[in-house]
Amino acid sequence: MNNPFFHKLRYRLQSDFQLSVLCLICAAGTAGVIPFAIYRALQQQWVTCAIDITLSAALSSFAIFAWRTGKTARACQALALINTLLAIVYLHTLGMTGVFWLYPLFVSNFFLVERKHAWASVLTINLYMLFRPGFFPSPDQRFALIATSLLTCLLTHIFAQRTEQQRRQLENIASRDALTGIANRLNFNDELIRAHQSFEREQEGCGLLIIDIDHFKRFNDTWGHEAGDEVLIRLARFIEGSVRKTDRFFRYGGEEFVLLAQPCTSASLATIAQKLCAQVADNISFNSQPIQISIGSALLRPDETPEQWFARADAALYRAKNGGRNQAINED
Ligand code: GH3
Ligand code: MG
Ligand code: MG
Repeated sequence: MNNPFFHKLRYRLQSDFQLSVLCLICAAGTAGVIPFAIYRALQQQWVTCAIDITLSAALSSFAIFAWRTGKTARACQALALINTLLAIVYLHTLGMTGVFWLYPLFVSNFFLVERKHAWASVLTINLYMLFRPGFFPSPDQRFALIATSLLTCLLTHIFAQRTEQQRRQLENIASRDALTGIANRLNFNDELIRAHQSFEREQEGCGLLIIDIDHFKRFNDTWGHEAGDEVLIRLARFIEGSVRKTDRFFRYGGEEFVLLAQPCTSASLATIAQKLCAQVADNISFNSQPIQISIGSALLRPDETPEQWFARADAALYRAKNGGRNQAINED
């Protein structure tokens, strides 16, 4: 599975929940509908066969559209709408036999679009069945269908809501640093690749700053580990409050932090780094001991990989440390 296509497929499906749900529904839907299209063709039921084939083609094309353009939400909305219209066509042509298809459709809509839109689809379909004369062979069947469809949707609504809440909580836990509360290294790894991709698309300059606290070990050695933790928290809060809204700040590990500054030019990157270094030294301290930092920065070059970009900033940080600390060096 070292093939770049499978690597990209896995990465995108793991990092984009909505895309993975859409692909799963499209794949399961296509696999579920194709045998029926074959069956209808054998029975020479051409209208239903054509609907089945259209549905399979639509399912595949929605997944491909979302994959290619990144417009997953739009593809999900369009698929939910087509689902609703096709359900009405199915009910119209198949009558009560079409009813069995409603349940997977209702459930999938709750995972594709906002819950209020999924409910609008459920109500439209139920109203169609209620007002179409002679649709239900008996009042019992009418009651059973309306009650079971609403109950299914209510349970799906609750599960979809709970799943979303838990996914958000997990994403938050996985991407935040527990001590300082800022984004962590895992998040940074993703954002570094994203910044690189966005630079390739839009050619908007992007700067990377690696920030390392000077002689941090002394805080730990002098006042204990908790004091060291407090220094990390103070520095994280200060930098978070002083950078631009468009910049992204992360704890890389230990007493090292990184900042992705975009948009950025070579000159603005040097200014940001030097200002930050001076502001930290002037404004924050612990037990009257100033907290100081060294910074290595590099502006992304058109021909380099994210790893090479990071290595250049790291080399600059090494020079800043060797040059006496409490300074910022830009790697050109
Ligand atoms: P330099 O100026 O060369 O960067 O020296 P330094 O003392 O800042 O760096 P060094 O790599 O020698 O020491 C870093 C220390 O940071 C070692 C480690 O025990 C401590 N450390 C790493 N993570 C944490 C943490 O979360 N909390 C605390 N309190 N200490 C930490
Ligand atoms: Mg270090
Ligand atoms: Mg250090």
